[in-house]
Amino acid sequence: MADINTQVLVIGTGPAGSATAALLASYGIDHLVVNRHRWLANTPRAHITNQRTMEVLRDLGPEVEAEAYLHASPQEMMGNNVFCTSLAGEEIGRLQTWGTHPLSKAEHLLSSPTLMNDLPQTFMEPLLFKTACSRGSQARMSTQYVSHAQDPQGVTTTLLDRLSGKTFTVRSAYLVGADGGNSKVAEHAGLPFAGIMGVAGSINILFKADLTRFVAHRPSVLYWVLQPGSNVGGIGMGLVRMVRRWNEWLVVWGYDITQPAPKVDEAFALKVVRDLVGDPTLAVELQSVSTWTVNNRYATELSKGRVFCLGDAIHRHPPSNGLGSNTSIQDAFNLAWKLAMVLKGQAGERLLDSYNAERASIAKQIVTRANQSIEEFGPIFKALGLLDSVDPVTMQQNMDARCTATPEAELQREQVRAAIAAKVYEFDAHGVEMNHRYRSAAIADDGQPEPAFDRDRELHYQATTWPGARLPHVWLHSADGRKCSTLDLAGKGRFTLFTGIGGEAWAEAAAALGAELQIELAVRVIGPRQTWQDFTGDWARAREVRDCGALLVRPDQHVAWRSTAADADALARLRRVLVQVLAR
Ligand SMILES: Cc1cc2nc3c(=O)[nH]c(=O)nc-3n(C[C@H](O)[C@H](O)[C@H](O)COP(=O)(O)OP(=O)(O)OC[C@H]3O[C@@H](n4cnc5c(N)ncnc54)[C@H](O)[C@@H]3O)c2cc1C
Repeated sequence: MADINTQVLVIGTGPAGSATAALLASYGIDHLVVNRHRWLANTPRAHITNQRTMEVLRDLGPEVEAEAYLHASPQEMMGNNVFCTSLAGEEIGRLQTWGTHPLSKAEHLLSSPTLMNDLPQTFMEPLLFKTACSRGSQARMSTQYVSHAQDPQGVTTTLLDRLSGKTFTVRSAYLVGADGGNSKVAEHAGLPFAGIMGVAGSINILFKADLTRFVAHRPSVLYWVLQPGSNVGGIGMGLVRMVRRWNEWLVVWGYDITQPAPKVDEAFALKVVRDLVGDPTLAVELQSVSTWTVNNRYATELSKGRVFCLGDAIHRHPPSNGLGSNTSIQDAFNLAWKLAMVLKGQAGERLLDSYNAERASIAKQIVTRANQSIEEFGPIFKALGLLDSVDPVTMQQNMDARCTATPEAELQREQVRAAIAAKVYEFDAHGVEMNHRYRSAAIADDGQPEPAFDRDRELHYQATTWPGARLPHVWLHSADGRKCSTLDLAGKGRFTLFTGIGGEAWAEAAAALGAELQIELAVRVIGPRQTWQDFTGDWARAREVRDCGALLVRPDQHVAWRSTAADADALARLRRVLVQVLAR
């Protein structure tokens, strides 16, 4: 007999665990979430918050989305990705990033009702966790996962109460491992992994200093400093990251991964900070120092029986592209509604298999992309002549050479510009963030081939209603002047059927099937004199079906299925689709 019984036990209150708890609580699922520490993130780690993540927060409620913007640095303050010799020194070049270039900004505005922003993990975690607790999550801090054993009926997990030193057991239908990059849950479940851990070593130095005079004229979240010869790797690249404008910062500096992690004392930390800023007398208030490793590893299977892992537990990679916390929250958005519908008896257990089918490829994709982004600094170093020598004097001379009036220098200047511009794959990869298209049994094929990408799929989001893709965002309007995104009409833990005038049979079929299958299935008829109207014609252009067609959208806002036109037997067809998608 276990000490505690619950439907879902979630290990970890990071972005993945807190988001899972917030969503499960919103869906009315009894669960317990635990964290071995006494509180949430104590350093700002993740910060880039992309539009897809903001859509998850928006789905949790307008107050959740609004609070994120309240604490975040806004998008327009994120954009000047600067390469320099120090903040006070020479600027080598810059890239307009994170959707702040006018062309990219237009794409961002067209593709989502939300805005990218910079929200440190020290704000994101409390927001998600508070949302979870205020909606009914049971949460225990200072509670450590020890082990689990599963059988066909459920999972029995042993936890350690770190305050009393006593262990206790929890019996749940499902166990969710959101316990980060050293996940014991994933290890004990025996999830298979590909790739390696520890490909490079990094030191984080968190500090307060007023750097306004160096940065306010070129607002950014990331300043890359190149100081040849100043570290073990020779190139001497450090990162000065804005945490709070413009007086709280995080410096990231490398260490030799072939050696044990260094003991960083105050003198060393101060020197690194002052060197990168370029001000030897800078007043610095050190806050903390920690070391971490760059990893290149992902799980090839995300679940085992009744145990599901998400977040860094299944994708371990460097912060490049800012994908870690974002992907963790999006994993939760994929998994939580499935657990909820299975636990409510609205879907068959096989629905849960689709979590693995849909998210394992994304784990691989983001780990690969983030590591590739690190390699793509190489052409900048090469163009600056930093790879031709390990002698700091020669390296500096090579960098300086680009400033002369010779054909070689002109070519070098062009190579530097091109190499910096190519970093758009790290700092403005809108397609990586938004182009997720799922394939699984929880998506019903409509017989149409997947639309090809017209442009680079990593850089540009391409909207489609092809089953598996995220529902395109379009602003709709009501006759009394209200404005609403198509995404707002979907989600919220329920299925939604979109149709238009002439699609009455779909609407009636959806209403009947909602009752028959005991599921929440909202119906949205969009057109003249309907609640929501497409005055601009944007919806007609985006939906890829006729007025009389239908789009069935899952609770995670991905299209489950579509029909181009009306169907004489709408009821039977929609029933077949729902039975398949819900594994009934
Ligand atoms: C310098 C830096 C910058 C970054 N920048 C970004 C960025 O801009 N954007 C982005 O999206 N990501 C970024 N990341 C990555 C991001 O921080 C992680 O991807 C994210 O925290 C993963 O969330 P998670 O919930 O999966 O894991 P974690 O945040 O690691 O949370 C794990 C949770 O599990 C708990 N836990 C662990 N073991 C146990 C146990 N045995 N028992 C109980 N509880 C346990 C922990 O206490 C914690 O609550 C950055 C990371 C670093 C280091």
